[in-house]
Amino acid sequence: MSNYQELYKKYRPKDWDGLVGQTGVVRDLRKEVVSNQIPTAYLFAGKQHGCGKTSAAWIMAKAVNCENLDKETGNPCNECQTCKNIDNNNQLGVHYVSMANNGSVKDANDIIRQAQMSQPINRPVWILDESHRMSKEAAEAWLIPLESPNMKALFIFCSTEPERMIDTVKSRVQQKSFRSINALDIYKHLEKISQIENLELTEDQLKSASLEGNGSLRNALQNLEVIARDGKLAGSYKNKILSMLASRNYVKSLEVSAEMESEGQDYLQATQQLYRDFSDMLLLIAGATPSDNVGNPKSYLKFASSIGPHGILEAIKLLGDTVNTMVYNTVDNRILFEVLMFKLIEVIKKYISTNTKK
Ligand SMILES: [Zn+2]
Repeated sequence: MSNYQELYKKYRPKDWDGLVGQTGVVRDLRKEVVSNQIPTAYLFAGKQHGCGKTSAAWIMAKAVNCENLDKETGNPCNECQTCKNIDNNNQLGVHYVSMANNGSVKDANDIIRQAQMSQPINRPVWILDESHRMSKEAAEAWLIPLESPNMKALFIFCSTEPERMIDTVKSRVQQKSFRSINALDIYKHLEKISQIENLELTEDQLKSASLEGNGSLRNALQNLEVIARDGKLAGSYKNKILSMLASRNYVKSLEVSAEMESEGQDYLQATQQLYRDFSDMLLLIAGATPSDNVGNPKSYLKFASSIGPHGILEAIKLLGDTVNTMVYNTVDNRILFEVLMFKLIEVIKKYISTNTKK
């Protein structure tokens, strides 16, 4: 088992063809590589973790330095020494920095100073992950370098919360928006990988791994590993939370929350998922087609009809406010989540009773 490599690492895309579910962004990036119109800085933005931002940044680092770039597709060859070195995180001049731990103004100045020195590579690249986590002063340190005509380096800012980055930086970078990957694209990809890996999973198991990935390929691949090992997903919190809400059980909500904490679940992600679920319920009530994240439209519709459109709207408002508070939080997200569950149960109680009185 010591050589075991997690699936999401093993199947990390190596060129544009392999990047799943980001057709628009990939088309633009290929074009820019082929026509050699690469800016000084990109911002790869996308709410969802694991939807391909840093993978795209690594592919870009290879594409701008590859010795045998495919001039038609913009794909790096993955065979030359530079490509190999970059894949092994072993290439001088190509750097990955997480701004979560390196977000001070001193860190920014260090990077900028290095970028201005000569680097042993055609186009030095800095991948600056979680770039919304750098301090305001650090962000301001980039303003002049980003506009310098002599800047040879390529900076790729990656962020799940681009709204937290200052506008003066954003106006100096080329932004590419990565969307949550749709469940069907994820399903097809998981199907392919489970065949290569001989996992012998059923269609339902593949569906469950895809849907519970919530638009993230990384989550979905991790789900696939759990299902291949245990037969099912232990932490299927989406369904647990919805059935707890349907039963309007305060005590149960605290139990679910405690369980989430002990399994290291992300409260913000769970709340964002719930926001999407309630938005889908609204669409279902209106007779519109929900997103393909809805596993079982019938059970959603039943739950949604019992609360009614006004109740659903009130729930969506509460969820949206909580997501915002969690993003900018100074409070423990677990507490926010538990308060939210109590408020949602209140809303559901209120509207279920008015709906049944009529
Ligand atoms: Zn190459």
